[in-house]
Amino acid sequence: MLRAIYPGSFDPVTYGHLDIMERSSKIVDELVVGVLNNNAKMPLFSVEERVKMLKEVTAEFDNILIVPFNGLLVDFAKKMEAELIIRGLRAITDFEYELQMSQTNHKLCPGVETMFLTTSIEYSYLSSTTVKEIAAFGGDTSQFVPEVVRKGLKEKMKVKRSV
Ligand code: ADP
Repeated sequence: MLRAIYPGSFDPVTYGHLDIMERSSKIVDELVVGVLNNNAKMPLFSVEERVKMLKEVTAEFDNILIVPFNGLLVDFAKKMEAELIIRGLRAITDFEYELQMSQTNHKLCPGVETMFLTTSIEYSYLSSTTVKEIAAFGGDTSQFVPEVVRKGLKEKMKVKRSV
């Protein structure tokens, strides 16, 4: 049985993330989406909100599990008994950071490998940061995120504008 972890902030989840989840869930037996609970990153959505949205948008996939985590990724992988970490690669700008991370993780825990899936062309420009910027200026995010996330963004921006 091959269990993989797809870690990230998912603040919020986009169609780019979903594409990686869908494709990797076909390769492995079980995919654990690890939702990073790191307040130092000052997320727009709390970890509970991110987990809730992720559960909703992945409900149709039987082998995708949403689990929050903090601390070292390799420790989370060990705890979940996962042998594989999945990451998405967009542009060359992602590469340097991802290479360093995967090599460090391999040093820390040689039993865990990192596998990269390259982004589908239609999502190569897409990031959670861009989506939050569009939402902050009142733009339409429906091409980039599922409906539940679009609504969540709208609510957050309403609250932000009123404070
Ligand atoms: P992190 O804070 O760890 O970078 P993100 O939530 O931004 O987390 O991303 C999680 C993973 O999804 C990373 O591997 C990232 O490269 C990948 N990813 C993000 N957006 C896309 C996209 N549009 N297409 C493919 N992969 C993506």
